[in-house]
Amino acid sequence: MNYVSTRGASEAVDFLSASLNGLAPDGGLYSPTAWPQIARPKVGDSYVETATRILTAFAGGAVPEAAIRGMAERAYAAFAHQSVAPLTEVGPGRWMLELHHGPTLAFKDVAMRLIAQLYDYVLEQRGERMTILCATSGDTGGAAASAFAGSKHVDMVILHPLNRVSPTQRLFMTATGESNVHNLALEGDFDGTQAILKQLIADDQFRRRTRLAAVNSINWTRVAAQSVYFAQAQAQFGANTPIHFVVPTGNFGDALACYVASCAGLLHSFHATAAVNANDAMARLLSGQSLTKGETAPTISPAMDIQLPSNFERLFFEATSADGQPANRNGATVAKAYAELSAKGTGAIPTDVSKRLSAIGLDAQRVSDAETREEMKRTLAETGWVVCPHTAVGLAAARRYRPEAGPIVTLSTAHAAKFPETVKDVLGLDAPLPERASPFVSRPEKFETGPMNADFVRQRIESVIAKG
Ligand SMILES: *Cc1c(COP(=O)(O)O)cnc(C)c1O
Repeated sequence: MNYVSTRGASEAVDFLSASLNGLAPDGGLYSPTAWPQIARPKVGDSYVETATRILTAFAGGAVPEAAIRGMAERAYAAFAHQSVAPLTEVGPGRWMLELHHGPTLAFKDVAMRLIAQLYDYVLEQRGERMTILCATSGDTGGAAASAFAGSKHVDMVILHPLNRVSPTQRLFMTATGESNVHNLALEGDFDGTQAILKQLIADDQFRRRTRLAAVNSINWTRVAAQSVYFAQAQAQFGANTPIHFVVPTGNFGDALACYVASCAGLLHSFHATAAVNANDAMARLLSGQSLTKGETAPTISPAMDIQLPSNFERLFFEATSADGQPANRNGATVAKAYAELSAKGTGAIPTDVSKRLSAIGLDAQRVSDAETREEMKRTLAETGWVVCPHTAVGLAAARRYRPEAGPIVTLSTAHAAKFPETVKDVLGLDAPLPERASPFVSRPEKFETGPMNADFVRQRIESVIAKG
């Protein structure tokens, strides 16, 4: 199976190139040329088993199944819960899919551990070294730093928005204790860091010379790896149960993974809600408005403070096909909208595409900070659980629906201990870090502050490589 760019102007590549490059040379994102149909897991199939089957299908022969199994085993051994992503009931017909049992306490670990294994496998085979650039709104950076820390084949450079991540989030990406992980705190917002990443990756010469790749939520392997827990949840409720997933959304990686699971035949049906905070671009895009780059508003769910969700581009690409067939997707339509966006600050989505987007089975719900606080209190009162603010955005959105046809499953995207300041402020409680995080606390933090400027980042990358 091959992967094509959502902007239609790059050559199709295989799974490994799509994963290792991150972004296509034309600035687009890679999507599979066709959807593999993957048998649904059965009740009792282990997480590793399901991950192996799904990743093997998406790898399309580029990596042997036995190698993928080894990667999945090593990736998920670091999780504190044996089922990796357990389901817990929060009320009648209402469930939470807990994705925060990894080493850095957020769902980003699920995909990032696997990606690190994939890179090590490939680079070992090729005898090569790479520089991995990661732009983070808070949790991806920690997951990436922890997953790649100590890798013999990778130099990692993480960009995070200065003072826009919680001190605990920062700890996981600055206190790895390994010299191959570098962190830059840039003066600005997450969208700025993401724009720099895209610019550097799109600079062909620089990318080749520095052997640069990106592991953002735009990386296809992340999306594929995240589709696994949706399939596992479906298996647990039974093949005939329609599930309504509520997904706390920022860059739209997780909700897209739900859609991908459905395209690959892993779900009974596709019904998802993207729960967003005040940064509600997904709600506007799904209601037919143009692509725009607004100002990011800081909220108490900072990992979702994103104005232009990158992965929306993949959904846009899907919706350019009039008959839903992947072969009839039109990258030129997507390229045109994004070119307009970068030239004029706004890019129109054609009406027929908008219509198809609204019929896909996805909606969006906006949840304010006040409602998020209220939800944290209400969940504590009803269940005794302390949830992180991102999870609370999802749970608050989920309350706007009745579990009629089937269960409503909200993704719990991070552990409350990652946001102790907010938990203290809202609930008056301490949220101590679980034991598995203690090594991070005892090591010094290491990061450098600088301007939100591509040249600054370029220069830092050059110096990392010179030392390596
Ligand atoms: C990254 C993140 C999100 C948003 O996920 P996307 O895939 O970017 O939509 C939500 N909650 C937490 C805790 C996160 O770290």
